[in-house]
Amino acid sequence: MEMRIIVAGVPGVGKTTIMEEVAKRANYRIVNYGTVMFNIAQSEGLVRHRDEMRKLPIEIQRRIQKEAAKKIGDMENIIVDTHLTIKTPAGYLPGLPVWVLDNIRPNLIVIIEAKPEEIKGRRERDETRKRDYESEREIKEHLEANRYAAFACSIYSGANVLILENNEGMVEKAVEKFMEALK
Ligand code: ATP
Ligand code: MG
Repeated sequence: MEMRIIVAGVPGVGKTTIMEEVAKRANYRIVNYGTVMFNIAQSEGLVRHRDEMRKLPIEIQRRIQKEAAKKIGDMENIIVDTHLTIKTPAGYLPGLPVWVLDNIRPNLIVIIEAKPEEIKGRRERDETRKRDYESEREIKEHLEANRYAAFACSIYSGANVLILENNEGMVEKAVEKFMEALK
């Protein structure tokens, strides 16, 4: 069966870290949605850094999101590293609105989670990225928003939802559980 998997979770929860390990063991192409969008935005001279993208006007973000969905929709056996919700000053922007789901047609949606205090600490320690500050309370709300969005996407697309914990210092365990779900 052709598998199309979505991996999502709040910024800094560890999606890319886990996907880099999965890529070594599974016959899947890992596609980072933000990177596909960044390449489009950069080629148009709109941004220089990937963390500037969520500051672009919402209409531009939506257009680039649509263009990325078309590109990714043409790929097979993929794991898409993306977001269920993107926090903007104008509210949560859905990462997987119907026009994105219709292109990607996922069979499985994996939400990576960790404790709010762990996520806060990971963001603070990771100097390679410019993530927005969120208090533990805000991170908790963001985690909840992602669950609601995941199940809305599940009902719409028929994809299963797997909730995967990425506990502190336990990347290997999360990777093993992920590999289990691919069987
Ligand atoms: P974004 O959505 O912003 O791309 P992400 O979910 O891809 O974020 P990563 O870049 O994979 O997050 O991880 C963020 C930071 O957390 C990294 O510095 C990574 O090394 C660290 N990290 C990831 N998983 C764990 C873990 N289980 N224990 C401790 N640190 C972790
Ligand atoms: Mg990432």
